[in-house]
Amino acid sequence: MTAWTPARAAMLCELGLQAWLPRPARPGEAAVGAGATTPSLRGGDSAGPERQVPARAVEAAAGGPARMSNSGPARVAPAGLDWPELQRAVEDCTACGLCATRTRTVFGIGHRRARWMIVGEAPGEQEDLRGEPFVGRSGQLLDAMLRVLGLTRSADSPARQVYIANTLKCRPPSNRNPEPEELARCEPFLVRQIELVQPAVVLAMGRFAVQALLRSKEPVGRLRGRVHHYQGVPLVVTYHPAYLLRNPLDKARAWEDLCLARQVCGA
Ligand code: SF4
Repeated sequence: MTAWTPARAAMLCELGLQAWLPRPARPGEAAVGAGATTPSLRGGDSAGPERQVPARAVEAAAGGPARMSNSGPARVAPAGLDWPELQRAVEDCTACGLCATRTRTVFGIGHRRARWMIVGEAPGEQEDLRGEPFVGRSGQLLDAMLRVLGLTRSADSPARQVYIANTLKCRPPSNRNPEPEELARCEPFLVRQIELVQPAVVLAMGRFAVQALLRSKEPVGRLRGRVHHYQGVPLVVTYHPAYLLRNPLDKARAWEDLCLARQVCGA
């Protein structure tokens, strides 16, 4: 069981969980929850209409034939592109049908040599309008989670600032689920971003990001809690902030994931 330290309790309060923090047991009274210091938690990430992304071979749209790595073919990055070239390539991209309905591409934000890289799923309506990942309520929750760790998307230090990107750079119409083909065609851009950032850890948030990156059909709940690797970089799985807004009790698990990522990062 994980002890409820003052720091952990403070983090959960920061994330809006003070309402369900377990009260100390009174003398002669059994403690609340699964253990004396641990609240009961809901499992899984099955809420909502999300589908699983099938594990499949990928022919990278921008990079040609794939090479083998981990449990499937590795994605080939747009070779040798620097940051301006890569951003221009995304802005001009017509490799999948989402180019026809996007308002703006959502490239990424943060320090380009950050130690932490956050990878989300696909832009939503606000992201599509602003061209920035993780805005709105999900973004506010992500910022709160990062703040607890002393991290931010707006500072100018690579040790404190994260880099944030999505697996998909254009918004699916009406926020529908991403298609596997769209994820496959877009992934080389993310691969190149990771090559350029060279983060110490990737934090993958949400089912679509996790399943696409890890070539897995397993739910987030089964993949979190251990260290994976993606393109040679340690990768930690956690829930998407939008999911946590719908399922606030899982914020405690998200905190454990952040602690694991911090441990991997050595921060
Ligand atoms: Fe290109 Fe990715 Fe946008 Fe599809 S989602 S058009 S692959 S940038």
